[in-house]
Amino acid sequence: MSETYLYDRIDAIKDSKVNVWAAFAGCEAFALSSLGYLWIYKILDEMPDVNVERITSDTNSTQIPIECVNLIAFSFSFDFDFLTLFKMFDKFKIPYKSKDRNEDYPLICAGGPVVTANPEPYKEIFDYFVIGDGEDITVQMTEILKNNLTKSEILHELANLEGVYVPGINKNVTKKTKKLSECIYTPVISDKAFFQDTFIVEVERGCSNCCGFCMASYLNLPIRYTPDNNLFDVIKLGLEKTNKIALLGAQVSAHPKFSEICSYIKLRIDCGEKIDMNLSSIRIDAVKPDIISALTAAGQKTTTMAIEAGSERLRKFINKHISETQILNAVKIAKDGGLKGIKFYGMIGIPHETDEDIKEIITLAKKIKSENKGFNISFGFSTFVPKPHTPFQWYGRDSIKSLTKKSEYLKKEFAKLGIKVTISSPKWDYWQAVMSRGDDSLSDFMIEVYKLGGKLGAFNKAALKFGIDADSLAEETYPFEKEFCWDFIEIKPGKLSLIEENKRLNSIL
Ligand code: SF4
Repeated sequence: MSETYLYDRIDAIKDSKVNVWAAFAGCEAFALSSLGYLWIYKILDEMPDVNVERITSDTNSTQIPIECVNLIAFSFSFDFDFLTLFKMFDKFKIPYKSKDRNEDYPLICAGGPVVTANPEPYKEIFDYFVIGDGEDITVQMTEILKNNLTKSEILHELANLEGVYVPGINKNVTKKTKKLSECIYTPVISDKAFFQDTFIVEVERGCSNCCGFCMASYLNLPIRYTPDNNLFDVIKLGLEKTNKIALLGAQVSAHPKFSEICSYIKLRIDCGEKIDMNLSSIRIDAVKPDIISALTAAGQKTTTMAIEAGSERLRKFINKHISETQILNAVKIAKDGGLKGIKFYGMIGIPHETDEDIKEIITLAKKIKSENKGFNISFGFSTFVPKPHTPFQWYGRDSIKSLTKKSEYLKKEFAKLGIKVTISSPKWDYWQAVMSRGDDSLSDFMIEVYKLGGKLGAFNKAALKFGIDADSLAEETYPFEKEFCWDFIEIKPGKLSLIEENKRLNSIL
């Protein structure tokens, strides 16, 4: 087992007033592949007067005892992370609710996309939230922690920072959007990471495509690109330590220097270096022979491409203007360029979806297969979950019954074609929607779900016990006048623009 740090660090407990646990609501392997989490850890670790320790769900003993910890900063990425969170609270004997944690307990905060979009379900659990990009706030909050203040005094000071939400103190919060003045990367390379020994580099943040359902796009507007010079320096730095590199971003290929990045890596490979390069996915309209050539030279055998919806009609409706011709063309370029296969991913249960739209998925798959014999294709689908701060936040989900029927139809038809397909569980996605659109009444519900074991039955029982109207949260389509519990978080372009965009997309149908 090895860990390589890409910065100078003092590997000892410092003489410090501030001790932080950088906590990840998941296992160590995922934490070590989480760019945002590791970067915040690096910021804290580089401070000469702050001690920081990484804590994950599999941490059993700690260097900094909890009695000495001032702050536990949680990275919270998925709606069901609360199950791991409570498990970690139990392990370290931390009461679940902030009101039950007196001055003897550290402050506990959370950041990440889930709580940035809608912190309300968690407002009784955490003392405060980082809303948006956390890099600058991390520095500001440690300065406040150095001042020997009481918890209440600290929270009042934190509430003055842009991008910090302290329940009960401030109720107007603007999401923090950082200018990308430097390239961030995984500062620790480890063979314990899920992406083993891989150096992950952020190429850009956000996506300009603005699909109507996409929180990754709407929470990160405007799209920001890593400065070119810094990006190349960082790539060089990473490749001194490992030969595995992954370029990260929701729309990596949109970086103005994307082709040059690929060419640079290919050149190094052509000069004899063995480099494995990985891209999370490639936009269909960005697939070019030079990019595929760099990928195949870097040992990549397959890639993923998002079609989002099976029919052109629905793709236009969600704002993904990709024609069938473009999809077929991209597959041809990928195949001719030497890739062995592509995994397509998309969504079912999109608002206004008809049986015809579902059938078109199969028609498209048939065409791809017949035009590309011997090429390995597979499909993956999730089901639509309404997400806060998107133009589709008002839409309810398709029913579990209908989604199950669509899933079964697709599985049967894909099996006939001999194409592998995976489809997420409509029942789990239903509860994800409840978590997404829920408010502070969910705290006791979440605790109950956890205590009951966290399986689907636990969600049903807990909802009954606490009178949660799960059907409404998951499946009801709300009028535009609906006041959402997350409306107080200001995220550009804002609610009025989302309504306009919802109407515009509807007019396309
Ligand atoms: S292209 Fe992908 S990342 Fe971009 S907005 Fe659409 S779904 Fe989101």
